Amino acid sequence: MAHPMTTKNGQPFDRASLESLMRRRLFYTPAFEIYGGVSGLYDLGPPGCGLQSNIIEIWRKHFVLKENMLEVDCTMLTPYEVLKTSGHVDKFSDWMCKDPKTGEIFRADHLVEEVLESRLKGNKEARGQKQDEEKEDPKKKKKKVKTIQAIKMDDALVQEYEEVLAKIDNYSGEELGLLMKKYEIKNPATGSELEPPVAFNLMFGTSIGPSSNLPAFLRPETAQGQFLNFQKLLEFNQQSMPFASASIGKSFRNEISPRSGLLRVREFLMAEIEHFVDPESGKKHPRFEDVKDVELELLNRSVQLAGKTHVETTPISKAVSEGIVDNETLGYFLARIQQFLLKLGADPTKIRFRQHMKNEMAHYATDCWDAELLTSYGWIECVGCADRSAYDLTVHAKRTNAPLVVREVRKEPLRIEEWQCDIDKKRFGPRFKKDGKAVEAAVEALTQDLREKLSMDLKNEGKIVIDVEGVGDGKVEIDKELIAIEKRTRIENTREYTPNVIEPSFGIGRILYSIVEHNYWTRAEDEARGVISFPPAVAPTKVLLVPLSTHPDFRPLVRRLGDKLTHVGVSYRVDDSNASIGKRYSRNDELGTPFGITVDFQSVKDNTFTLRDRDTTRQVRANEEEVCEAIMNLVEGKETWDDVAKRLPIFEGQEVD
Ligand code: AMP
Repeated sequence: MAHPMTTKNGQPFDRASLESLMRRRLFYTPAFEIYGGVSGLYDLGPPGCGLQSNIIEIWRKHFVLKENMLEVDCTMLTPYEVLKTSGHVDKFSDWMCKDPKTGEIFRADHLVEEVLESRLKGNKEARGQKQDEEKEDPKKKKKKVKTIQAIKMDDALVQEYEEVLAKIDNYSGEELGLLMKKYEIKNPATGSELEPPVAFNLMFGTSIGPSSNLPAFLRPETAQGQFLNFQKLLEFNQQSMPFASASIGKSFRNEISPRSGLLRVREFLMAEIEHFVDPESGKKHPRFEDVKDVELELLNRSVQLAGKTHVETTPISKAVSEGIVDNETLGYFLARIQQFLLKLGADPTKIRFRQHMKNEMAHYATDCWDAELLTSYGWIECVGCADRSAYDLTVHAKRTNAPLVVREVRKEPLRIEEWQCDIDKKRFGPRFKKDGKAVEAAVEALTQDLREKLSMDLKNEGKIVIDVEGVGDGKVEIDKELIAIEKRTRIENTREYTPNVIEPSFGIGRILYSIVEHNYWTRAEDEARGVISFPPAVAPTKVLLVPLSTHPDFRPLVRRLGDKLTHVGVSYRVDDSNASIGKRYSRNDELGTPFGITVDFQSVKDNTFTLRDRDTTRQVRANEEEVCEAIMNLVEGKETWDDVAKRLPIFEGQEVD
């Protein structure tokens, strides 16, 4: 569903023009297009690749380098067993419903959302039209009221729809089915009834090896590889906590009906951080102080459950101290995520953080906030930030017996008073024979309360009776010759715990597309001239070198400038086609190239060049050294265009169209 948007300079945003630009200029293209394409699969072209690698580079600097995170690159093919243990085999699914007549498949929550939104929109337009007509001819009032009744949307129903939409992500399959019945939601194209929603697992299955006997999946997230390497990473980090691992790589999800271009695809690049923290530390973060004053737009769970969507601007320190955001580590990452998105050029008025409602959360999460960016497709989750507690490490440790725990020497030894059971192993074996192990395990598992009670039984009756599953009738008698139960003091010098995990998870493709939307505009004097105002560090190419013509005198200058820019790590392209300078510049405005250098006859004479700024189209003129220095400063963010324009002479010559 399209959301009306405006561009940076207040013009209406036109998604069709932008998407056509992005395809025409090869930011991306549908994969396998000459074979008819496959929905949800895209290839990136040169500007798309440049943009993606810049986003990744900024991500690495902003997170991995800044915090000494331990980067890993894990395999994508994941054995069935791993994802069975992690819960993905049973729970990683969305709700789909089928049209039994046409075989069409819909994602249930998206269908309900789309239908309700379009009814609301139709109703709003009808009302608007009615008001316009009344203004023109008050006598029409009566007639038009009828039209509105005809689409049966009184204020109460509008409010009901809005409330359903505010919590659309929170409904179970059954609830979605009920909503579809209640609001008569059918196949929008044919009007035919749909089957009730069923769960559809989003993982792509495969098998490993020539005899295909190891079932596997393409990973749906990079996280599992990081969890499975936890013990080695902790060792690498010299057992020091807290620490974070990070990974950038492809993930795969068999989305039910991927539309929305790059926003919902079946194979996508993820950048994920797993920050391991001691749960007893209150999940404090050592750098929280650095971000405490960062203000975020928060849409919390209770507001959504009340059917509303208003956000509150809140400093992160307040959000954490008031418990809106559960802990410092989660809060720290929310603030850092916002700083990262702003660095990339996200529009600050189009960022919000939305807390997941209980039903909406993934099976492993205890709390989750999404960084959402407003696009013409609505608010889009671009970064998920989940508290996965100790879930993953615990289930993998239980399944494999690997010690996915932290052991640390206590500052003060801990004295523990406890009931201990001593088994006489020599007699135990002959007495219980093949059941010996099961009985011993049941004794080990007895709680402290039970041990205390059983110690009395042992004293009074000379025996105890305990539950042992799978042995006889499930009750086993152990007499006092075989067991002793006593209260003793144990000194514990080390502490062992399973860390909790806070996971910021970035969908790079979603961020990439949203950043393009936020920075796209058209020049007021000519709507056909699209510009993408990427920040210099993000732009796929930083500089366009434009010789005035193909005159051979320009070639050595162009080559020298190019070599110099390469030497300082600034990407450039040469456009020496015979299009006019203006045309060459506007072609590169579409690619978001922030700076242009024109090489003309004056350059040949005195080694001066014009340097052009994409956004203002203003130019300065200076010598080679000064121009290159200005570009480096601009790309590294040490200077803005205004700074440069103040200190270097302005060049008033017109761009030649
Ligand atoms: P999740 O694990 O579902 O929280 O996803 C983490 C991030 O991956 C999201 O915030 C999105 O940015 C991205 N993502 C999830 N599914 C898709 C998809 N089908 N296409 C593109 N990006 C996605």
